[in-house]
Amino acid sequence: MKAPDFDYQSPETLEAALALLADADGMAEPLAGGQSLMPMMNFRLAAPETLVDLNGIPGLSGVAIEDSWVAIGATTRYCDLEDDKEVIEAVPLIAKVLPHIAHAAIRNRGTIGGSIALADPAAEMPAVLLALGGEVVLQSASARRTVKADDFFLGIYETVREPEELVVAVRLPKAKPHDRFGFHEIVRRHGDYAMAGCIVAADATLAGVRVAFFGVGDRPLRAERAEDALAGSDGGPAALHAAVAALSDLECDGDVSTSADTKRHLAGVALKRAFSELTA
Ligand SMILES: Cc1cc2nc3c(=O)[nH]c(=O)nc-3n(C[C@H](O)[C@H](O)[C@H](O)COP(=O)(O)OP(=O)(O)OC[C@H]3O[C@@H](n4cnc5c(N)ncnc54)[C@H](O)[C@@H]3O)c2cc1C
Repeated sequence: MKAPDFDYQSPETLEAALALLADADGMAEPLAGGQSLMPMMNFRLAAPETLVDLNGIPGLSGVAIEDSWVAIGATTRYCDLEDDKEVIEAVPLIAKVLPHIAHAAIRNRGTIGGSIALADPAAEMPAVLLALGGEVVLQSASARRTVKADDFFLGIYETVREPEELVVAVRLPKAKPHDRFGFHEIVRRHGDYAMAGCIVAADATLAGVRVAFFGVGDRPLRAERAEDALAGSDGGPAALHAAVAALSDLECDGDVSTSADTKRHLAGVALKRAFSELTA
């Protein structure tokens, strides 16, 4: 199928893009890499009256490394992050995760802001944001606000972002020298969306642990009871067993091929493998 008719705008400044969104009464959609939006339009799952192309706006892409944070501009493409040694040194989890996002052709166009704004529950980047305790910077024509990852995702393709707001940056905390990360996703083929995935982030002594899942519920999910089971533990089999048992209340949802119970089982498998990677 072909997309329905739409108007196309290519603003050259952030202010112009925000003004277009403010005037559109919810009928305009930002266009970033187009890797999700264009297929959705072609399948007629999305029918915006106007596309506001963000690609010509200088300053919306690029990375700023600060004292404790890395600020990544919304239209920064995955391929640029993959090649950025400073980013990978500051946020080593990114190097583990990026090769698992789709395929090189899609990573050449797809953007971090597009992934966070879309909030696909099976996408890796929203779970990275949640596991690291990152932040999303939102801007409208009249205001700018920063939202913590824990408060950003509401449900399937749903976030706290208002239609007239843009994601302008994603902020990730810089890793401290002995921080450790584990990542594992269960997929039918490399590059597919995950059936279940898990990210574990911890400091050197396991005093602080964050566990985030993707592909198992209606949004990226934090597993705070599993975190409690691992935090302060010796990281041995008993602690891991307790963490997996603590997934009993994880808000798993089934999909067309996989029941909620199977998703919970896969979440446990992904947690064990991600944690093994972290402790290896
Ligand atoms: C075959 C295929 C396989 C894929 N596999 C994976 C996968 O395994 N893992 C994964 O994570 N992703 C996967 N993707 C999706 C891909 O990563 C997308 O690039 C990403 O989800 C969206 O980024 P984008 O820049 O292309 O956004 P777009 O498609 O341009 O936009 C997506 C949505 O976000 C909105 N949006 C975009 N930017 C902003 C912004 N700055 N502020 C506010 N709203 C904005 C758009 O209006 C739209 O609603 C796959 C895509 C394809 C086609």
